[in-house]
Amino acid sequence: MPIRQLPDDVIDQIAAGEVVERPASVVKELVENALDAGARRIAIATAGGGKTLIRISDDGCGIPPDELLLAVRRHCTSKLGGDISLVETLGFRGEALPSIGSVARLTLRSRAEGAAEAAEVFVGNGRCEGPRPAPLSRGTVVEVRDLFHSVPARLKFLKGERAEASAITEVVRRIALAFPPVRFELSGSDRSETVFEPGDLPARLAAVLGSEFMANALEVDAEREGVVLRGYAGIPTYARGNALHQYVFVNGRPVRDKMLLSALRGAYADVMARDRHPVAALFLTIDPVEVDVNVHPAKADVRFRDPGLVRGLVIGAIRQALGESGLRGSTRGAA
Ligand code: ADP
Ligand code: MG
Repeated sequence: MPIRQLPDDVIDQIAAGEVVERPASVVKELVENALDAGARRIAIATAGGGKTLIRISDDGCGIPPDELLLAVRRHCTSKLGGDISLVETLGFRGEALPSIGSVARLTLRSRAEGAAEAAEVFVGNGRCEGPRPAPLSRGTVVEVRDLFHSVPARLKFLKGERAEASAITEVVRRIALAFPPVRFELSGSDRSETVFEPGDLPARLAAVLGSEFMANALEVDAEREGVVLRGYAGIPTYARGNALHQYVFVNGRPVRDKMLLSALRGAYADVMARDRHPVAALFLTIDPVEVDVNVHPAKADVRFRDPGLVRGLVIGAIRQALGESGLRGSTRGAA
């Protein structure tokens, strides 16, 4: 076959394979969009574990009617001025909405701040329709129906409704940890509802991770060369049998970074058995030019310009918190 450019719909489907793995990845992308839009309240409703329906409503800045079609077009974003090292939003690739639209039926309805009325566009079944007027008092509503209906091979790889629903819950819990002032509502087809009320970090951690975690956690607060680490880390006796209870964020972005997780382990090396795992919620704030978040489309991996500095900060900060608590403990013991 001669070399030729792939048709756009095929390119979208290939891109979708990287961004949209399962319903939970759709929820992650759409919630991140709501947060980037400055939402203070985000409601997530799903049916069929997100396979039949995902609806995300927010009260953010909205999209003007004449930009709705651009929003669902590949590589179109309002978040990147040109220099990728300066991005401070969660998104910047302009891939989520077109990718989702290429493997599901997507309706994007929005009312921009100050706009006289709302409008919507539809993408799916190989078509793109709109914009047309629609009723909405503020913000944005994104509705995703029948995920992977056009890609049976991918549909087959999804787990059952309950497993997909719990993956969605996990995504929302994780993001909610990083945005305490934002209200999150999550409801499923079984009429379950989880609400995280707006509050400060300790209140949000207690709501998401449980008050038991907060009762057994030490505050972490340290800074090295402009890099700040804050959060809470469990006392050594409050350890778990797996590493699933470690929540690490870089500039508000949930990550599963090997180096950060191994630094966390390293901090506890002297005080915890090797088969036990610390519980922690740690928030790293770093100048965006010091970290590359564009390593993977889902942005769960990051690369630091100076990993040694970050590693040292994590280990030092947690050891300091552990040490201080040890001192306090022994003083009390002596009294
Ligand atoms: P990205 O987030 O990387 O820019 P997306 O495909 O996720 O790409 O979204 C495309 C654009 O649509 C965004 O840049 C933004 O301008 C707009 N957008 C998407 N979701 C929302 C939302 N909930 N509120 C306001 N604008 C949105
Ligand atoms: Mg996005």
